[in-house]
Amino acid sequence: MSRPISLIIHPDAMIHNLSIAKHYSGENKLFAVVKANAYGHRIENSYDAFKTADGFALLEISEALKLRSLGCSSEILLLEGIFTPDDLTLCEQYGLTMVIHSFQQIEWLSSYQGNYKFNIFLKLNSGMNRLGFKAEQYTTAWNMLHKLNCIKNIVHTTHFSDADDIRLGIDGIEYQYKTFQQITHKIPGKTSVCNSAALLRHSKKLSSDYCRAGIMLYGCSPDYPKHSIDHWNLRPTMTLKSEIISIQCVKAGETIGYGSTFTAEQDMQIGIVACGYADGYPRSCPSGTPILVNGQLTHTIGRVSMDMLCVDLTNIRNSHIGTEVTMWGHSSTGSILPIELVAHAAGTIGYELMCKITARVPIKIERKTSYV
Ligand SMILES: *Cc1c(COP(=O)(O)O)cnc(C)c1O
Repeated sequence: MSRPISLIIHPDAMIHNLSIAKHYSGENKLFAVVKANAYGHRIENSYDAFKTADGFALLEISEALKLRSLGCSSEILLLEGIFTPDDLTLCEQYGLTMVIHSFQQIEWLSSYQGNYKFNIFLKLNSGMNRLGFKAEQYTTAWNMLHKLNCIKNIVHTTHFSDADDIRLGIDGIEYQYKTFQQITHKIPGKTSVCNSAALLRHSKKLSSDYCRAGIMLYGCSPDYPKHSIDHWNLRPTMTLKSEIISIQCVKAGETIGYGSTFTAEQDMQIGIVACGYADGYPRSCPSGTPILVNGQLTHTIGRVSMDMLCVDLTNIRNSHIGTEVTMWGHSSTGSILPIELVAHAAGTIGYELMCKITARVPIKIERKTSYV
C-alpha cells in the first residue's frame, strides 16, 4: 500500500469560483492567473475549468506553451514579459501578449525584424516599486512603443500593493489608482488594474477592462482575516489529506515530538498523521493549528516533523488507524478547513502553501458536485 497522503484537486470548485470572478468583473474581460503552475494545482488540472475565461496570465513561456498544447486559443499574457530578445520568436509563434515594464524590453522590441504585430500591456509603476515605468517615464515609453511597426495594441496596466487592506488610513488602492488615472487618462488605450482583492473589494470604483484574478479562483480569500471564503462565496479547489497511521496514549506529564515542546496536561490520545514538512505542510505551524480528523475540527500538537505531525484526538469520535485527516480543504464528511486558516497559523498566506506542496505528494482529481 502506498503512503496515504494526497493532494485532491476540485475542478467543480474552480468552475464555481470563476463564475464568482465573472460576476464581479461584469462587462470587463476576466483573465485567469495560472502562474506557478496554476498556484500549485498544475496547468493541466486547471485549464478545463478555466477555459471560459477571456484569457490567461502567467510568467513562463513553457507554461504558456502548455496551455496552447491543451487547446487554449485565447489571449495569454506574460506578466513579466520577455526575459531575452529570443523570447520574441516564441511570442510570435504562439501568439503571446506581453507586459512591457522596462526600457530594455522596448529596446529588444525595437530590434525585432519580423512581420508580427504584438499586443502589449504597458506597466506603470504607480507606487509598488517593483516592476514598471515611473510616472514621469510612462508617456515616453508609450510613445516609443506606439511608433514601432511591430506593436498592434497597448493596454495600460499597473499592480496594487495593498488592494487587500487599508494603507495609511485609506483604501489601499487609492494612492496608486490616482497616479494611474492621472497618467493614463491622456493616452488612448484600455486598462488592466484588478487582482483578486481589487476585484472583490473595489471593482465598482475602478476602471479595469481586463481583470487578472488569481487566488480567488483557487478558493482562498485574498483579504483573510478581514473576510473569509464564506463572505466571498468561494470554495477551496485543493484538499491536502492523509490518514492516521498510529495512535499513542500519552500520560499526563509526558512530552510529544522533537524538542519536547508539548507536555500533556492530562492523559490523552494523539493521532500520528502521515504528513510533514517534506510534503509541504509548514513546519512553522505551531501546536494548536486547526486540522480536521474524520471531518471534525481539532488541532496539531507539538512540532511538525519531516514526514509526520501529531493531532489531538480528545473529543474526536471514531478515530483509528486509517481515519481521514484533512490538513486543509474538503473532508469526506463535507466540512471545510480553509487553507488561509492554516497559513495564518504559520505566519504566511494561502498562496505560499498552495505553491509549496512537494513532488512526492500524488495529485488526484475529484469531480464531485457535493464539494461545491
Ligand atoms: C499574481 C498576479 C495577479 C493575481 O493576483 P491574485 O492576488 O492572486 O489575484 C495579478 N496581477 C499580477 C501582475 C500578478 O503578478
